Amino acid sequence: KIAIFWFRRDLRVNDNAGLYHALKSGFKVLPIFIFDKNILDKLEDKDDARITFIYQEIEKLKTQIQKHNSSLLVKYGKPDDVWANILSDYEVRAVYTNHDYEPYATERDESLNQYFSKKDIPFYTFKDQVIFEKSEIVKDDGDPYVVFTPYKKKWLAKLKDFYIKPYPTEKYLTEFIPVKSFDLPTLKSLGFEKSTQHFPDKEFKNVLKNYGVDRDYPAKDATSRLSVHLRFGTVSIRNLVKVAQKEKSDVWLSELIWRDFYFSIIYHFPHSAKDSFRKEYDQIKWRNNEKEFEAWCHGKTGYPIVDAGMRQLNETGFMHNRIRMVVASFLTKHLLIDWRWGERYFARKLLDYELSSNVGGWQWAAGSGVDAAPYFRIFNPYEQVKKFDKDHKYIKEWVPEYADPFTYPQPMVDHKFARERCLDTYKEALK
Ligand code: FAD
Repeated sequence: KIAIFWFRRDLRVNDNAGLYHALKSGFKVLPIFIFDKNILDKLEDKDDARITFIYQEIEKLKTQIQKHNSSLLVKYGKPDDVWANILSDYEVRAVYTNHDYEPYATERDESLNQYFSKKDIPFYTFKDQVIFEKSEIVKDDGDPYVVFTPYKKKWLAKLKDFYIKPYPTEKYLTEFIPVKSFDLPTLKSLGFEKSTQHFPDKEFKNVLKNYGVDRDYPAKDATSRLSVHLRFGTVSIRNLVKVAQKEKSDVWLSELIWRDFYFSIIYHFPHSAKDSFRKEYDQIKWRNNEKEFEAWCHGKTGYPIVDAGMRQLNETGFMHNRIRMVVASFLTKHLLIDWRWGERYFARKLLDYELSSNVGGWQWAAGSGVDAAPYFRIFNPYEQVKKFDKDHKYIKEWVPEYADPFTYPQPMVDHKFARERCLDTYKEALK
């Protein structure tokens, strides 16, 4: 008779809410991870770096758990099938996991909940990846916030030490079930190859002192680069909020609050993962020119700041936040390509890809989202260079041919012309 703890996007033993509750349940705990076939089948690249990242983190988790005479059971398949197998192999008395707010995960968990309840197995789920979830921060009348500033104000007012206290899992690690080591399926058996991509360090970079000023300059290594770790839960959000408080970095804390905000938006408005949050923006007559989209993807637009960003993304799986805004504005406004195309490309390439923040960022740029940039605010790529990369350091790092004006291509579309075309098209749709 055992309890199961199901690791998902919380790939750490320390300060893990659901794991803590499982270990305290009174049952011995079997930890598991499922490589979800439904998700893996959708990935286009066989060397998808995120799978390598997860795989490495799973190996580390397994080693860590094995120090406590237990192991991590790793399965590959559709969750329904995997669970049917597990329940026939073990006498499971309870299942523990942490919340996941994405539409696919919410549906999966609801259907599993019904399945478990038919078998009289309680399914306990916990808040772990955010500070405040679901309807914890809503307006006084109970409606969700769709503007960031009042959301943030309430978030800060509600924050008490209680919400960032770590879960002391380390005290209960003897509660893992004693088993011999389980075999780990190989990457190949999952249909993937090892990626050669470099992953940012999990150790906290001391960037907070100048973060408020430096974070907008892409040539400076001035942001935490923790996004991939937050994405897969290899760091604890509670701990990071504590760091932000200790270092008195309100600006950085604000970014962590944006993350909570976008999770709450996807929870309350799951349709906004696919449709424009503001419906009238789905009237826009996108040009959706495939050749132009290709040029954007490959960083061949003739706008050096856009090209640098796209090449950084293609080569490293990361793009600086300021440049994400610039390339997203360029695709949706200069080229009039549907924000969903850009969102999908980012989803394929970003190591830190997170549905809620990605859709949020894209709809912010397109003007169609919550608290979005007004549609008539169209980033001027030349001005962005002047302000944020005036020595062209970032551009030259990613676009070496920029140094030679004869080989660097002409802009694929004239800025003034594109600006007018965009304003006309948006006005037509929104009238
Ligand atoms: P830091 O500046 O050190 O910030 C710390 C953490 O705060 C980040 O790791 C992230 O978790 C969170 N954060 C920072 N900025 C934002 C923001 N604007 N919205 C939500 N959370 C934020 N972030 C993702 O994690 N995944 C995405 O798929 C994603 N897609 C984006 C798409 C577009 C078009 C835009 C404009 C932004 C997107 N962002 C996304 C937000 C932001 O660009 C990244 O979180 C940030 O660049 C990650 O770098 P960092 O870890 O060094 O961030």
